[in-house]
Amino acid sequence: MNTYAKQAVTFSHGKGVWLWDEQGNQYLDALCGIAVTGLGHSHPAVTKAVCDQAQKLIHSSNLFQVREQIRLAEKLQAISGLDKVFFSNSGAEANEAAIKLARLFGHNKDIAQPTIISTDKSFHGRTLATLTATGNRKVQAGFEPLVTGFLRVPYNDTAAIEAIAKNNSQVVAILVEPIQGEGGINMPDPEYLPTLRKICDANDWLLILDEIQTGMGRTGKWFGFQHYEFKPDIMTLAKGLGNGVPIGVCLAGARAADLFQPGNHGSTFGGNSLACNAALATLNCIESDALIARATVLGNRIKSALTKGLAGHPFLKEIRGQGLMIGIELTRDCKELVKKGLDAGIVINVTAEKVIRLLPPLILTDNEADQIAEMVISLIQALD
Ligand SMILES: *Cc1c(COP(=O)(O)O)cnc(C)c1O
Repeated sequence: MNTYAKQAVTFSHGKGVWLWDEQGNQYLDALCGIAVTGLGHSHPAVTKAVCDQAQKLIHSSNLFQVREQIRLAEKLQAISGLDKVFFSNSGAEANEAAIKLARLFGHNKDIAQPTIISTDKSFHGRTLATLTATGNRKVQAGFEPLVTGFLRVPYNDTAAIEAIAKNNSQVVAILVEPIQGEGGINMPDPEYLPTLRKICDANDWLLILDEIQTGMGRTGKWFGFQHYEFKPDIMTLAKGLGNGVPIGVCLAGARAADLFQPGNHGSTFGGNSLACNAALATLNCIESDALIARATVLGNRIKSALTKGLAGHPFLKEIRGQGLMIGIELTRDCKELVKKGLDAGIVINVTAEKVIRLLPPLILTDNEADQIAEMVISLIQALD
């Protein structure tokens, strides 16, 4: 169906940070299929994990013990410090699980209309509940009636939440991205997330972090919250988790880990052996190749090259981001740069109309990082 405004390019194969189209043109991939292929394309360890598992067992069912799922769950527990996981196939479904947990949490406290606070310019997915949580009218328009039980406040505005806390007894959770991705790489103020944690503690609410884009090392920590001293009650992951094999996960700490009982929630495919083995290989590689620290080094390298190369440019508004999640906001619409980038041999993204979004793979060499910066600078300099 006609769901995407597609570019006229068909990629046939990829290797590391490079993609080739069916005509044999080569592209530097600074997007990773939207923060998915953090280890680049056809990574040998992920390919081996997929092939090995496909020869043994792709799928059994969540009606049985799934060995690879248990292994992945243990690994995710170890790196997140959270207690339990639910596996899904996508980010939206991971957020659906989080929303359902929050509602159960509320009903267990006799809250009749459990309400979740989310933020303007957020993106949480395309299912009816997650598009309702999403702070972007374009995502919602045409799909009314929206789901009840959601309130929205501006990002970085804790006073708005404090005001709701004073006169709304139905709130059960805050759902927020540690850095807004689709919304334009919008950074949290330094005190924003710790303050949300405090507000949740003071009001007995759950703090739900949507780390679907920020997770898996992209910001220079496994998860965005690890730049701080607190833990969320619930965290969702997807995009970079399986390096391209579809998988999502909803993790929960003590206050939410034991809310689901058999029959409350489920998924036929979620957490099957193939997806979990791919994710295990992805996690192991990120760790063994020390790619999380690289994300910080490479991100700083790209940002400083961009800052230098674009200094004083009339269209430059701001360069921001953390690790390999980088936004370059211009003072004008720049959607045409996606096509111009492809013509020049680089895959980039433009979000929120004016923000060039770079989500390159964590396996970049210094030289490839410099190439990305140079190509993006040339694209911006060629704007008239
Ligand atoms: C991509 C994304 C989602 C949705 O994930 P899907 O796998 O497309 O359903 C949700 N939240 C954030 C922050 C995302 O970046």
